[in-house]
Amino acid sequence: MISASKHLVPLKPKLFADRQCPRCASTELDAIGAVFPGIHILGEYACRACGYSFYHDLPVGFAVDHDVAIGKDDGVMHDKKGVEEWVKGPLLEAFTKPSDAEVRIERRILRPAKRVVILNTLDYLYGHVLLKLWNAQHYLEANPDLGLIVILPKSFEWLIPQGASEAWLVDLKLGQSHSWYRSIDRQVNAFLADFDEAWMGKGYAHPDKSKIEIERFTGVKPFQIERFADEKPCITFVLREDRLWFRTPLHKLKYRVMMKLGMRGLARWYFLADQQRLAMASLRRIRKQMPAVEAIIVGLGDKRTVPSGVIDLRTRSMSVETELAWCHAYARSQIVVGVHGSNMLLPTALAGGCIEVLPHDRYGNIVQDVAVRCSDVMQLFLYRFVDEFASPRTIARHANSMLAHFRVFFRNNRTNVP
Ligand SMILES: [Zn+2]
Repeated sequence: MISASKHLVPLKPKLFADRQCPRCASTELDAIGAVFPGIHILGEYACRACGYSFYHDLPVGFAVDHDVAIGKDDGVMHDKKGVEEWVKGPLLEAFTKPSDAEVRIERRILRPAKRVVILNTLDYLYGHVLLKLWNAQHYLEANPDLGLIVILPKSFEWLIPQGASEAWLVDLKLGQSHSWYRSIDRQVNAFLADFDEAWMGKGYAHPDKSKIEIERFTGVKPFQIERFADEKPCITFVLREDRLWFRTPLHKLKYRVMMKLGMRGLARWYFLADQQRLAMASLRRIRKQMPAVEAIIVGLGDKRTVPSGVIDLRTRSMSVETELAWCHAYARSQIVVGVHGSNMLLPTALAGGCIEVLPHDRYGNIVQDVAVRCSDVMQLFLYRFVDEFASPRTIARHANSMLAHFRVFFRNNRTNVP
């Protein structure tokens, strides 16, 4: 039985070999084997025409489009596609200085299978790991004849998708993921010996988020959009400390200048407090029209004094309990409010909608961080993007309108449509 699909890359028994020799352009190659040094997964090939030995990215993760080859002996990077520096730079550096650090991988077998698809989610950025992981749902549904194996950073253990056949938990901090780990390669190749057939899942960087059943990953039921106007109104503010919501361009400039001048403590003291003032001023205006609105604050950071009726779930020490408490907060919220970034992925996957403060220099990344839960015109109603220097008045106008006008908008655009 063959599970050919354009979203699968053959690994075993026959390795993907639709490649060209980077030296002589011959396509007559011997596929030697796959290597798993960490973020990248590469095939090792030998050219039958000229004898050149090289590694070439398998088309998975960011290498679906941004693949490069590296000469095995000469260490030369062959980059025919003009791959971006942030993808290829760290790979070449890692290849040049491979690590002999022993990285522990816990192999957890949940539903044994002999024919499998493997999804590698390792990455140095939190958001990238999550997005690659969300591809799991596609493989579980599209390839039920294959067991699904997820290679996950250990800190994502709580998100192992229901139905996976195995999880290989890599005990590595995200920031350390860039290296070329001989020990990861050795362990993964040893695990592979147990399977008759294996494929790599492409693990796209931007899976269709409207299809993701987030409960499968978190165990938490998301907010039911149909009940937007019926549930008690609740708004969760996601306040991150490393990308701030600024009041004016001048505030942003002052913050940057102070950080440059080494006044980090003072800058953070003032601008973190000001970010909270903006959030709470928004809430005050929302409550002027709708006094019953409940509010929750989450984020990696210290708790602060908050107005009455606001639950502060901020903390600096993450644990599964905290992750789940935050998930439950999003899941009871009609709206999550926050600054653009990967910090918005889980909140939007679980809440009814969002109001996102989108910095000007992130326009090219719009919606990458938002798990838009619908694919019709409801998107425009439920997902609002506001200017980087949006005022509390602007946030409140959007929030009040979403809460007040949902019922009619939903009826016009979901219920009464042919
Ligand atoms: Zn060649």
